Amino acid sequence: MTIREKGTSPAYFFGTNGHISRIPSALMGRKIALFLDFDGTLVRIQKNPARCILADETRELLQSLANSNRCHVTVLSGRSITDIKASVGIRTICYGGDHGLAISGKGMTYIHPGALAAKPAIDKAGRMLNRKIADIEGARVERKKFTVSLHYRSVNKEAVPHVKEVFFAVAAEFRNEGPLAVMKGKKVLELVPDVSWNKGSAALWILRKLKSESLSVYIGDDVTDEFAFQALNTEGITIHVGNAKRTSADYYLKGQWEITRLLRQVQQAGGDISCR
Ligand SMILES: [Mg+2]
Repeated sequence: MTIREKGTSPAYFFGTNGHISRIPSALMGRKIALFLDFDGTLVRIQKNPARCILADETRELLQSLANSNRCHVTVLSGRSITDIKASVGIRTICYGGDHGLAISGKGMTYIHPGALAAKPAIDKAGRMLNRKIADIEGARVERKKFTVSLHYRSVNKEAVPHVKEVFFAVAAEFRNEGPLAVMKGKKVLELVPDVSWNKGSAALWILRKLKSESLSVYIGDDVTDEFAFQALNTEGITIHVGNAKRTSADYYLKGQWEITRLLRQVQQAGGDISCR
């Protein structure tokens, strides 16, 4: 919608000094394509991702938005599509797993061909990583359908350089086999197919599939969401969870706890309008 001038910070979504942001009015009467990241956005980040439970209130808000005919909801995550579908548990929304390499739900299906091609190498690298980190306390390999993650949030500070060393050695071994690329996130290193596809490409693909003109609203907290902020912020509303200067998003939330307030605002902006 608005592109931030270079060097300026994102604006607080709810406005400052009691002034309400103009954004909610931009949502009025529009069909909305709402994109949300999961970990750190819909749920608080936990040391053990299995403990990230979607709050009932958040689920109800998402469900109600998804059931309205003005909002198309997509959850785009680095988790596998099976994991993210189970973690959110709403049938009427669309899901993107493995950072958007796989898309499924709401009549949409997509698998990136490069992801299929790189799968044998990803699987082999995942098995090797598992063997090599077996004796490192707190390190955890998450083997997904098309990507593999090495989480080190629970690893002792002193052991982190060793964990990274192991990861990059395995990455070097398989880099040309996929080919594969390395992606960095919050306390996580990932091996992904080396394709020019990311959460931004996935969001644009979904937008093209939606038949009506929709205003895109994208909310995320991690470096992988930056691709989507860059892809969408000329035509939509981009919101970073947490106040960070180094984000391409135009707006920010103070923290994950504000997500329900934001979803309620989107819901209320629908208010008495019918689908256009
Ligand atoms: Mg996240």
